Amino acid sequence: MTLMDSTSISVSSHPQYSISVGDTVLSLGSDNLLDLCWTDGLDTPCSICKRHFDNAVAPPVRTLQLLEASPKATPAGLQLPSIKITNSHLRCLKLSNIKFFPVSHAWHKPVARAYATRESSIEATRMVFELPVRILVAASQRFGSDVQIWHDYISIPQWQDSFRGTTILPQIFQIFKYGGTSLIHLDDEPTFDIHELPSSQDLSIRGPAMQCLFSARWFRRMWIIVEFTMCQDSYLMNSRFEIMPGRFSSLMEEITRISQTLPAPLEWMASIPMFSKDRSTHNCLGHVYDLLANQGCRSFRDYFIAACAMLEQDHDHRALAELPKDAQDACLWVSKRALERGDYSPLLLRPPNEPQHGRVRWLKGYMRIDEKMWGIGVQTNAAYIPPTILPDDSVQLEVRFLGALGDFSPNFDGESRLLVQCMLCKSRIHCGASMWREPKGAANLYLVPGLTYLNARCEHIGIVVEDAQVIGRALLGAPPCNCSEVAHIRLE
Ligand SMILES: [Zn+2]
Ligand SMILES: [Zn+2]
Repeated sequence: MTLMDSTSISVSSHPQYSISVGDTVLSLGSDNLLDLCWTDGLDTPCSICKRHFDNAVAPPVRTLQLLEASPKATPAGLQLPSIKITNSHLRCLKLSNIKFFPVSHAWHKPVARAYATRESSIEATRMVFELPVRILVAASQRFGSDVQIWHDYISIPQWQDSFRGTTILPQIFQIFKYGGTSLIHLDDEPTFDIHELPSSQDLSIRGPAMQCLFSARWFRRMWIIVEFTMCQDSYLMNSRFEIMPGRFSSLMEEITRISQTLPAPLEWMASIPMFSKDRSTHNCLGHVYDLLANQGCRSFRDYFIAACAMLEQDHDHRALAELPKDAQDACLWVSKRALERGDYSPLLLRPPNEPQHGRVRWLKGYMRIDEKMWGIGVQTNAAYIPPTILPDDSVQLEVRFLGALGDFSPNFDGESRLLVQCMLCKSRIHCGASMWREPKGAANLYLVPGLTYLNARCEHIGIVVEDAQVIGRALLGAPPCNCSEVAHIRLE
């Protein structure tokens, strides 16, 4: 796309809004707003080091603040104050210790349409300017008139190709990470009432407000999980631009605390998505799939961008540039990177509802990410010996052989009971297992030394292997004897 010469469109024929950028004041209306904000109309050198930006290395962090303190402005008012745009390197912001609030929100259809078609509309224009500015006014009233926010509707020139996809995404994740505390804008109607949220009152009488809060569409989107994971904390904002007094983490702690005193969970508690309760350090792909399953996104490949970002928070910038374009290849790439870090979870996933991969049979989730593929939480102890990936993408493991599988009572939905007999001393091992295929008669049980997971509630993780395939995972207590031998097995 050729960018328009922005000097000729910096004045709108129907000006409604004004933005100060560098030494210029732009007067904006529906005829020119997206043409300026979403191309190069807000470009300047870095406000701190005064150097120009190299988008391939470090695109600008574009923040908004009020041009001047305007005590009369209200977030929902008709007259919106003028704003000032500042472009800075993330590195320069860090060095100068300048903070801002990144805004996390679900996209609106008119804005998504304008992004996809590169055609402006009155509705999209209004949302792109007004929503960030109203949020800014609310944030200024709460946190002080010099507060800065980052909102992707204005902060990213959405029609510039150099800002699309995996170029800008790692930068966005770093912006949330550095911002530290985000504003989560839940603008669904009817909105929840911030005063109805629990402080120390009984949660059971807050049911309708809580139901309303957790049914906001923000909770069903996928990208917001990455943003949420990157931040240390956040404040919730409703559709009236009211900001909750306490932090979101305090609300979740309160819900957890009170729910532990209840005889049974309240009905609305089932609608709380797993990610919002989970502040653990994400260190295994299986658990990340549990968080991402069922969350909405536009393209299947996006799941693997998100997984990579969550698992490799400090390296994702370089890593994501190498993510294959094809979604199935991207799944294999993310799974192999996990294995290389000693993460066994790609091998221990229950298969989702997808056909077996034609070449790499151990690969799961290459066509769909289902809930219940994992279910045993983050890794608490790494295996002593990481897996080895061979050139043909098969995987070699050094494990301990416990015995051949004997009696097996199948239960493919829940826990099966396994009976395994030691080949040497004939001691018997009884254990619980999660099986996804019935053994054909030559299945063996192996222990993965050292490996444990938070919610597995067992001392050791075992794998049931047949025909170079993991067909189940076993939850083991202490082995009944010490005969087990080191075994080298290969999964294809
Ligand atoms: Zn700079
Ligand atoms: Zn034995």
